Amino acid sequence: MTITAIDCDVHPTCTGNDILLPYLDTYWRDSVEERGMGSLESAAYPPNAPITARPDFRGPNGYAATDAAQVTRQVCDRWGASHAILNCLYGVQLIYNEDIARAFARALNDWITKEWLDRDPRLRASIVIPMQNVEYAVDEIERCAPDKRFVQVLVLAMQETPLGRRHHWPIFAAAEKHGLPLGIHAGSNYRNPVTSLGWPTSYVEDYTSQAQGFQSQVASLITEGVFAKYPKLKVVLIESGVTWLPGFLWRFSKFWRGARTEVPWVDRSPSEIVRDNFRLTIQPFDSPSDPHDVERIVEHLRSDDMLLFSSDFPHWQFDGDERIPKGIPDGLRHKILVENPLATYDRLNGASLRESAS
Ligand code: ZN
Repeated sequence: MTITAIDCDVHPTCTGNDILLPYLDTYWRDSVEERGMGSLESAAYPPNAPITARPDFRGPNGYAATDAAQVTRQVCDRWGASHAILNCLYGVQLIYNEDIARAFARALNDWITKEWLDRDPRLRASIVIPMQNVEYAVDEIERCAPDKRFVQVLVLAMQETPLGRRHHWPIFAAAEKHGLPLGIHAGSNYRNPVTSLGWPTSYVEDYTSQAQGFQSQVASLITEGVFAKYPKLKVVLIESGVTWLPGFLWRFSKFWRGARTEVPWVDRSPSEIVRDNFRLTIQPFDSPSDPHDVERIVEHLRSDDMLLFSSDFPHWQFDGDERIPKGIPDGLRHKILVENPLATYDRLNGASLRESAS
């Protein structure tokens, strides 16, 4: 089977704890009932918000992307992706109790394996980890890593502490060891306000502010020295938007030149580190509508390797069926659709894809 496109951001919907009950052990299954635990909706994507799913994607129960056939019908058959990476945004990250978070992360990854990966060979997935406890997070990476259909470790853009801080490093060590990029997806565990100024009033302000979180995480990972310690670690910024990056890197690299003695382990410009170690998915593509302006923005990234195809299905990032934003140069299309994802995700190497898809 030819690799036509790899969709690097697709969201399977877990509609509630009842779905996960078969994947929890007896103690936790009883606890869900006895404690009356409600569903863990993702606060970053409240199900009734229009952006959560296009109306034509929603089923009669109001949800979209609730089973593998529904996802592959849209993403693979209609939009022509030969493979898709599932990033599940069920609210495991919001839980305060570390043990409950661990139990639900395990159940979620097992549910993804059985109900999604086992049902269609075109699907791959990210490992959801309980960031509430780094030891548990590493355990979950180690538990899932032997299944090569897990191609990435998934965390949210806004955490309790900046991602680069040393206490997170065992997660990066495990990810690098297994050839798993760290996927940072828009979203928050809501331990801190989603803007650096405090809590906003509206959902639209929350969602718009996500780019601030991504910028701070890029700065944190680089200045703390994560890539000096783990040079092979790749980071994928998922649903971050794209156009904020060139201006941010100009500022970051300029101040690094002036204050680099403070971070001696950062031995080259942040712009260079980002070009080598970071990638971005293309939806939402926060670009001007003029194709010429889009071309210039892509030029400002100064690398053809950085952008990865994504639809963000079923989230509503674009109308119609135009998967690649207007203005993306023709010569770059194949790189975005196929070559860049293959170069980013070690576990998506051509041989294993062709094997699984045949
Ligand atoms: Zn997404």
